[in-house]
Amino acid sequence: MTNRSLNKMVDQQNNIADKNDVAAVVIGAGIAGMHAALELAESGCRVILVEKAPAVGGLLAKLDHQFPDDGCGMCRILPMIDRDACRQICLRKGLDHNRITVLTRTEVAAVEGAPGNLNVTLIQNPAGIDPERCTLCGACMDACPVDIPDIFNAGLGRRKAVYFPVPHQADRMAPVIDVTACTRCNACVEACPENAVNLEAESKALVLEKIAGIIYAPGVDLFDPSAVDVYGYGVLPDVVTALAFERMLSGSGPFSGRPVRPSDGGPVQKIAWVQCVGSRNIMIGADYCSSACCMFAVKEAVMAHEKIPGPMETAIFYMDMRTFGRDFQRYRDRAEKETGVRFVRCRIHSIEPIDGEGGVKISYVDGNGGFAEEAFDLAVLSTGRAVGNALPDFAAHEGVFLLDTVPGLTDISASIIAAGTAAGRLLRRMQEKGTAGAVLPQAVNPRSLAADAAAEEAKSRETALFSRKPAYHLVLHGMFESAFPFFDSDAFKAGLSAAGLDIPITRAGGVSCEKGLEDTITEIRASKANRLVIVTAAPHLVKISQWSKWIGLMPSLIRVIDVRPLVLENRSGLNTPELLTAIEMEVGRLRSRSGNAGQQALVEKTALVIGAGPAGLSAALALADLNIRVAVVEKSDGAGGNTAYIHAAEIRESVSALLQRAQQHPLITMYCGASVVSHRGLPGRFVAEIALADGG
Ligand code: SF4
Ligand code: SF4
Ligand code: SF4
Repeated sequence: MTNRSLNKMVDQQNNIADKNDVAAVVIGAGIAGMHAALELAESGCRVILVEKAPAVGGLLAKLDHQFPDDGCGMCRILPMIDRDACRQICLRKGLDHNRITVLTRTEVAAVEGAPGNLNVTLIQNPAGIDPERCTLCGACMDACPVDIPDIFNAGLGRRKAVYFPVPHQADRMAPVIDVTACTRCNACVEACPENAVNLEAESKALVLEKIAGIIYAPGVDLFDPSAVDVYGYGVLPDVVTALAFERMLSGSGPFSGRPVRPSDGGPVQKIAWVQCVGSRNIMIGADYCSSACCMFAVKEAVMAHEKIPGPMETAIFYMDMRTFGRDFQRYRDRAEKETGVRFVRCRIHSIEPIDGEGGVKISYVDGNGGFAEEAFDLAVLSTGRAVGNALPDFAAHEGVFLLDTVPGLTDISASIIAAGTAAGRLLRRMQEKGTAGAVLPQAVNPRSLAADAAAEEAKSRETALFSRKPAYHLVLHGMFESAFPFFDSDAFKAGLSAAGLDIPITRAGGVSCEKGLEDTITEIRASKANRLVIVTAAPHLVKISQWSKWIGLMPSLIRVIDVRPLVLENRSGLNTPELLTAIEMEVGRLRSRSGNAGQQALVEKTALVIGAGPAGLSAALALADLNIRVAVVEKSDGAGGNTAYIHAAEIRESVSALLQRAQQHPLITMYCGASVVSHRGLPGRFVAEIALADGG
């Protein structure tokens, strides 16, 4: 982050108490809180995102890879339909949205008032460093004599009392001072060439008025395994948590991505994961499954094989494997059959040291009731979710929506879905009640389909290009090379050629630097292409409007293919029939496409919901409550879906109440016994053809 943008952040924070147009407050900037904030902001709300830690991201800021495709998952929570309207690039670098103000090191002191007109008192703790002056030179950290375990790296690395809270945000965020560790020796004050350190700064109170609603998303605390002595955690250095192992594998972690045995620095070539640590255990009051730790362990085992050089042996000691989710079971099976991860069904007896050597010995009772022991370099504990702390008083205040506050039963995708639901409910409430002084969101904003319709030069180039017969260019974009190191472009070209697609290809690996971008643009322009297909593993980085300007092509003549779903089928190669088919399809679409001259267009405030089960009815009501006209198409003769087969009275009653509300809602039209015959168009301009029950 440049000094100017640091200044902007400071201005935002200083002026916030004066503003009276704040609409919503989201408390907690983990993945759920950030997703809720983004949903609200993208719907037109002004949002204050409050986080008590010094940086945003929560638990997920520590994770480099996520299942089931081992990519970084944070950016996938970004709104994707309106990709060009969102200026966010990477959530691991922080949150940057012009309708969201992020207040870190801040806690809620009190909530007062009624929903729609809440007053929220915040206390912001000092950073100790003035971001307006700081040039990120690092001299203060060099001078600081304090040396303590680095919590971000699960205690495996060391840090100073003045430190960067998240290593991969160090290029855009000033360091902060940990007041609990600081000895006030003044060394950083003397070392700082910019006079940016202020050890005397005090906490300040901020009062936000006329808040329409609050979403409380405190995030997840993980179980501390030192509470159960059979695992040896905290005593044996070669017993670590799954989160610690994630940091060991990370390039920004304590071992720079090359893990060694913590006990003696020896090689790590045999690793065990121990499941259900702190979950499914009534003895410690945790009778729930934590949902995500099985897949997390499988992912880490696969990553260990891929990232640690030399021979590697991995085993997962489990009671039951929870692989509930799209492609999760397939991912687990591939880990076993292709990667060689061993799955051992058992009950763990103990983890103990090996006399005179590094590593640990795991004792367990196997599936046949036999006792067994095995030595490993490292034991990784799959810690589940901790039993949560008591909720703060303000959580019970009317107008506060709670997220992620019930132990267990929540994985990442469920958190994101819940965050979206909470944001939707808050928007509906704001729509219903209206709020004096608050900015009410528009359900759908007008959007421009043009990249730059006013630029005459670009226009004439577009027209000249478009008037020629279709000529295609294929761009393999951005992170493509790093995501697919085994990609064989010669074989890929041969595959394209065999499919009758002799298209020039540019590998645009360096579009983030000026020279790389210039080379890419020159190459594409030289090919005189007037249709562009961009294949990418990072679709959030592809802004069609930007490419339209760079190449001088109308946006409608550019198509983007997200290859991530295809990679699930074939991890190491991309010469799959699926990718070639996807390219053929996009080329086919572009062949018949007329150039869109880029006029302003208002999005129709209508939506089609297919299916009138509880999910479809809820979605229809959520949209209709935001003043969007909705058609619900249900292929069977009645609404309610599979709940017709459920006998529990309370479920039937709640679905029947949903149905009644939907039937009586003036903006919802129900079509039962109907089906969608065809659809065409783009987001904002879809047209669907519906066959009605009466043959219409
Ligand atoms: S005053 Fe605190 S942060 Fe600064 S150098 Fe001394 S111990 Fe470190
Ligand atoms: S020495 Fe001063 S300018 Fe340099 S990083 Fe520390 S606070 Fe910032
Ligand atoms: S997800 Fe797996 S490891 Fe985690 S608690 Fe459930 S069964 Fe145990």
